[in-house]
Amino acid sequence: MNQVAQLDQKFVWHPFTQMRDWLRREPVVIVSGQGSVVRDANGRDYLDANASIWTNLHGHRHPKINAAIRRQLKEIAHSSALGLANEPASLLAEKLVNAANPIDLGGTSSHSKSGTRGTRPSEGGLSKVFFSDDGSTALEVALKLAYEFTRRTRAKPMGRAVARPRFLSLAGAYHGDTIGAVSLGHVDLFHKAYGGMLFKTDQVMSPYCYRCPFNQAKPERADARNYRKCHWECVGKVEKKFSNQKKKNNPYAAFVFEPLMQGAAGMIPQPGGWLRQVATIARDHGALLIADEVMTGFGRTGGAKAAGGKRKAEILFAAHHENVQPDLLCVAKGLTGGYLPMAATLTTQKIFDAFLGKYEEFKTFFHGHSFTGNQLGAAAGLASLELLQSEKSIGQRVRLQQQLQDELQSLWTLPHVGDIRQVGLVAGIELVKDWRTRTPFALREQAGIRVCEAMARRGVLTRPVGNVIVLMPPYCTTRAQLGRIITVLAASVAELK
Ligand code: PMP
Repeated sequence: MNQVAQLDQKFVWHPFTQMRDWLRREPVVIVSGQGSVVRDANGRDYLDANASIWTNLHGHRHPKINAAIRRQLKEIAHSSALGLANEPASLLAEKLVNAANPIDLGGTSSHSKSGTRGTRPSEGGLSKVFFSDDGSTALEVALKLAYEFTRRTRAKPMGRAVARPRFLSLAGAYHGDTIGAVSLGHVDLFHKAYGGMLFKTDQVMSPYCYRCPFNQAKPERADARNYRKCHWECVGKVEKKFSNQKKKNNPYAAFVFEPLMQGAAGMIPQPGGWLRQVATIARDHGALLIADEVMTGFGRTGGAKAAGGKRKAEILFAAHHENVQPDLLCVAKGLTGGYLPMAATLTTQKIFDAFLGKYEEFKTFFHGHSFTGNQLGAAAGLASLELLQSEKSIGQRVRLQQQLQDELQSLWTLPHVGDIRQVGLVAGIELVKDWRTRTPFALREQAGIRVCEAMARRGVLTRPVGNVIVLMPPYCTTRAQLGRIITVLAASVAELK
């Protein structure tokens, strides 16, 4: 066995991995990467079809990001944000605020077919950035800010303490692994394991059209969102949750959601107009909107406009496709182009102001991490944002989104493909026993895992979410590479028994 593989098996404990299975076979040891390809210790190349767990945007070893990190290394790698400022973090905060407040927010978009009213914080846009380390910490920050903001700003009924702020999120939601983030989520497995440590949050049905009990349509060979027969009962459920909670004299403090598509819940896309409707309901009930754009951020949900003529400001965040501006926007993964662990929680002046006061009032936001505002991460983030806004990257995204849409069509011929759900540059392919009945594979059959293993044998790497195969290639993936990914996926699904 390769020496690194031996060391790994002797000492390393892998995330979300049954280590008994892991120890049974030789792991793939990645030694290098270039563009959309990663290379293992035996010199074998693989296409990185899930962008190294949804992080990589522009490809591996991008010369501009590498150069930015190298340039920063010549100055300093890290100094604390406790009591000190630094240049890359300040510049990145400014650029993030600009990107999070696109000028043409309010225009029309392909995703927002119903509802005309957009929703945004009453006092304006997102104007402050709190840096942290990863998706989970970005959510922890949003959660604590929303909790404390609500306690401070809600009127106290005569002499009584304000009720504990309560949060609403979507069924199946995954927002990270720290205790607050797990509490915000609704993954049964985690709640069984850690239930005793979590605090209670409420869940509401998510618009999972393919398996929606209100969808009267028979299965078709198309994305279930496009042939659903329903009366937006899912929106009605959200309305009901909010009005019931209001009756308890403790309206929800915040509504937490992944905009346009829930990732780890199973690549569940929202039909156009859903987000705008539920965001309006939440706002009308006085709740803050917390958008988890850890997966969906930085152009992943598409919408790049091809160059030529008057260029519209690019939409980089999913919520903006539905003209929804959250009060708290959480980003991580792609923030540094997928190069370094760094995250940010963007918020409004109003929330920021609720934490201002005399020192001895202790209104300070008591939260922070050793690597908050890290210079190397911020330098990578600046380079990545610049790339994202370049004509070249915009062109790549337009082309990739279209090609993905075209090529995915070929998979409908496979009887084990039940639903194909694409949002921009992300796709989830749900595997079923029989598409005519939507009968799922039992989890113990490991259909998703088996297909991904067969894909790996053919030189394409991705990981499933249950029985959903995820495709999320880096933006630089070429026409030929994407073609190969789809061919390999089709061949691997065809092998399923
Ligand atoms: N939110 C979402 C939507 C995610 O997809 C993830 C990670 N897959 C997280 C939060 C947690 O991010 P991290 O793993 O960086 O803590």
